[in-house]
Amino acid sequence: MIEGIIIKGVGGFYYVKTPNGTIECRARGAFREENLTPLVGDNVRIRINKEDNTGYIEEILERKSSLIRPPVANVTQGIVVMSVKKPDINTWLLDRFLIIGEYQNLDMIICFNKTDLSFSETSNLAETYEKIGYRVIITSAKENLGIERLKDILKNHISVFAGPSGVGKSSLLNKINPCFKLETGAISSKSKRGKHTTRHVELFELEENTFVLDSPGFSSLSLDFIEEESELKNYFREIKKYGRDCRFLSCLHDKEPNCNVKKLVEESIISKARYDNYIQFLEEVRKFRRY
Ligand code: GDP
Ligand code: ZN
Repeated sequence: MIEGIIIKGVGGFYYVKTPNGTIECRARGAFREENLTPLVGDNVRIRINKEDNTGYIEEILERKSSLIRPPVANVTQGIVVMSVKKPDINTWLLDRFLIIGEYQNLDMIICFNKTDLSFSETSNLAETYEKIGYRVIITSAKENLGIERLKDILKNHISVFAGPSGVGKSSLLNKINPCFKLETGAISSKSKRGKHTTRHVELFELEENTFVLDSPGFSSLSLDFIEEESELKNYFREIKKYGRDCRFLSCLHDKEPNCNVKKLVEESIISKARYDNYIQFLEEVRKFRRY
């Protein structure tokens, strides 16, 4: 038997990358009885049929993690790519991606690309998020800035990239691995591709033992997994931290008096944009709970 990693699954077939190449496999029937489905990203042991060089997945090795949407095993980090200009920064989406990724136990890293277009604004934003405690990387795919650092961050992980269209995700991946020839810029033809209804996930190999998911982002942007208003602040590190000094332990930092968080927003110690997103998301969570 040999070991490999499932890089694609289509209609009952799994494509397993092994030291002997990529092998088309079926899963052993017994997995169904065990209520276990092999996932893209799984490390597996396979038995190869010498006659036609296909294989059988015999064993799924222990999973480090499993993403639900999209269903992939062993993804460890999420890279949220944003540009400050072209398209303009969208912190609403950035903060949302951070929450969704953290909920799925991913180590979330922010990548501000297109720094060649607005260096000082990008640095300011980077500083804001670094102060909160996020790992931030500044890149320019156009001018080849930060690419090595991004490469280092990705090394030995399976990562998912998230971010709006046009921020340079494909351009960055093409820079990291010049063998990639992902379409860039052509928004119209890309969105056509997005319309396929049978979505399957696939891993791209950037280098040895280093993969990225082909789908840009998470398949749902909903925050419906947040069950209580009071849970939301756990996803805003600075609000959680400074909220400990509010007058009320149960303070939601909304309309309550003597709120330390609101005071620090006034003093610009907490970013106003972050706080505004928090309040918007809070409204959203309240709406779910009304039904
Ligand atoms: P994606 O939709 O996130 O995959 O974005 P693309 O990689 O397709 O890039 C969208 C457009 O932005 C393309 O025209 C790229 O050439 C351009 N672009 C990508 N990275 C940079 C960058 O760092 N600086 C500048 N100025 N343009 C970039
Ligand atoms: Zn408060």
